[in-house]
Amino acid sequence: MNDKQLSGEFTWSMLGDIGKGREHLGENMPVLVYRLFQYTMRATLVRAYGKDEMIRLFRESGRLAGEEFAKNVLDLQLDWNHFIAQMQSSLKDLQIGVLRFEEVDSNSGHMILTVGEDLDCSGLPISGECVCNYDEGFLAGILSVYTDKPYSAVEIDCWARGDRVCRFEADPKPGKD
Ligand SMILES: [Zn+2]
Repeated sequence: MNDKQLSGEFTWSMLGDIGKGREHLGENMPVLVYRLFQYTMRATLVRAYGKDEMIRLFRESGRLAGEEFAKNVLDLQLDWNHFIAQMQSSLKDLQIGVLRFEEVDSNSGHMILTVGEDLDCSGLPISGECVCNYDEGFLAGILSVYTDKPYSAVEIDCWARGDRVCRFEADPKPGKD
């Protein structure tokens, strides 16, 4: 164990050798288990810190996940079009969702991304609110690492609001979240 792990900081190696450890059960598990973890964690954070802080913490952990995912899994040397294709295929392979880039303004860096069949929210009862705060951070984290600009992303459509896909507006501005 290194110093970072001892201090509680995240390192990719913390995820362990899943295939080795789950020789018979395998690397996959039902979405139900992931959602049970996520939504009980959200409820517990709301109880402890209030809803705004829960949302902030989920975005922040999503961002850390996106940054580490980009650094450890994605090929950052690819040009933009190949990078987009790689992002789409890895999110699909990992069953996170079906990613599309709806708009990309190469001058301002403004983007609109959609995620279909999103892991976090597709099929949720309609609450009227966007709930994919982890995804907001995750997408922003990946874009920040690839573009080397501090990106933020805000979800504007969500299954939990009655939409069929989750839609995110991403901008290279610090401090928006
Ligand atoms: Zn959503």
